[in-house]
Amino acid sequence: MTAVSPNSPQHKKAKALKPGSRRPAKELCSECGLCDTYYVHYVKEACAFINQQIPELEEQAHGRSRDLERDDDLYFGVHNTMMAARKTQPIEGAQWTGIVSSIAIEMLNRGLVEGVVCVQNTESDRFQPMPVIARTPEDILAARVNKPTLSPNLSVLEQIEQSGMKRLLVIGVGCQIQALRAVQAQLGLEKLYVLGTPCVDNVTRAGLQTFLDTTSRSPETVVYYEFMQDFRVHFKHEDGSTETVPFFGLKTNQLKNVFAPSCMSCFDYVNSLADLVVGYMGAPFGWQWLVVRNETGQEMLDLVQDQLETQPVMSQGDRHNAVQQSIPAYDKGVTLPMWAAKLMGVVIEKIGPKGLEYARFSIDSHFTRNYLYVKRNYPNKLAQHIPEFAKRIVGQYNLPK
Ligand code: FAD
Ligand code: SF4
Repeated sequence: MTAVSPNSPQHKKAKALKPGSRRPAKELCSECGLCDTYYVHYVKEACAFINQQIPELEEQAHGRSRDLERDDDLYFGVHNTMMAARKTQPIEGAQWTGIVSSIAIEMLNRGLVEGVVCVQNTESDRFQPMPVIARTPEDILAARVNKPTLSPNLSVLEQIEQSGMKRLLVIGVGCQIQALRAVQAQLGLEKLYVLGTPCVDNVTRAGLQTFLDTTSRSPETVVYYEFMQDFRVHFKHEDGSTETVPFFGLKTNQLKNVFAPSCMSCFDYVNSLADLVVGYMGAPFGWQWLVVRNETGQEMLDLVQDQLETQPVMSQGDRHNAVQQSIPAYDKGVTLPMWAAKLMGVVIEKIGPKGLEYARFSIDSHFTRNYLYVKRNYPNKLAQHIPEFAKRIVGQYNLPK
């Protein structure tokens, strides 16, 4: 991209867009936060929904773009290693076992970075995201657990420049990281570390309420939820109780429009541009899934190796039939009665895809759904917006017109 130095007149003149005003990506905006800062003047090149440039940015971040002939690269992006891991002493209240928070804390404690971009919640609402630059382990711990809503993590970019920080860790999801990589050279940093999580089916705060209201038995007491590898949504409530709802029993007809249009048109589920990705979907139930994309990612992982137990990734089953059969259901928003959904959940859990095959199942299902969404709603964007790797993945299936 055209280099404009942080001190150039063009940069100084640029102004953040007003809160609530229409963003350049219009309804596809994922509220990544870039436009809340004067970095908005890079938006046409940097925005993940205006200018898809994953292969170019992979090259910039990892020294090469993914090899489309290698199945693991095609699906999971550029990487040196993958593994399943969990903390031997999990962090209480973390989303999984707290590997993300632990890495961030080690990086601060060892002086590798001066600050960490992460997202806490507001005092009045546990799910309302509040991006911060954490400077202490306590600040990082206060950001643990997912805020399962669109979060303007990049809204702190101006503060980074003003603080004079030179070494920074950013934690974020794919669309935030794509915009960050695009403006990375303009931030005046000596070293940027990027710790990513996978992300899919995100929602606005209002959308989250609809999801909770239609899915949980007690929406107001939910403190945490996750779509897990056992094909169930797991909710945790304030009193410590757990509630599970099978995927196939979700009220898809009422949830059809709940996911943000940005997430319905996203093909960066696996956070291709982070140095290290920490998720769960390629790991056995109860474990986290780690994808080390480059040497910087390995350096970050090495900091917490002694806090982890690990095992190699595994893959079992064949997803193709399940994906093909779920395409019309996704498309029409069909909901099974709860007894049938439970039964289907049990059968799928017993014989269904596991480990990396589960991750491929989830990627295939979302990419086919999102491909149809873009084709129907933004046909002019189809060619540029959908990366080649996603076109190949979708190309394995018969799609309805
Ligand atoms: P913790 O130590 O609890 O730390 C969580 C970190 O997430 C915090 O540092 C916080 O800053 C950051 N964070 C919280 N909310 C947001 C947000 N809205 N945007 C950006 N950063 C945020 N993994 C999968 O394998 N498959 C998925 O489909 C998937 N979907 C996800 C959707 C969202 C919106 C998010 C935020 C994460 C998703 N993940 C997914 C990742 C997974 O849920 C865990 O976050 C990850 O495994 C880290 O767990 P942990 O216990 O190490 O994290
Ligand atoms: Fe701006 Fe980010 Fe929205 Fe794109 S997604 S329009 S960069 S705030």
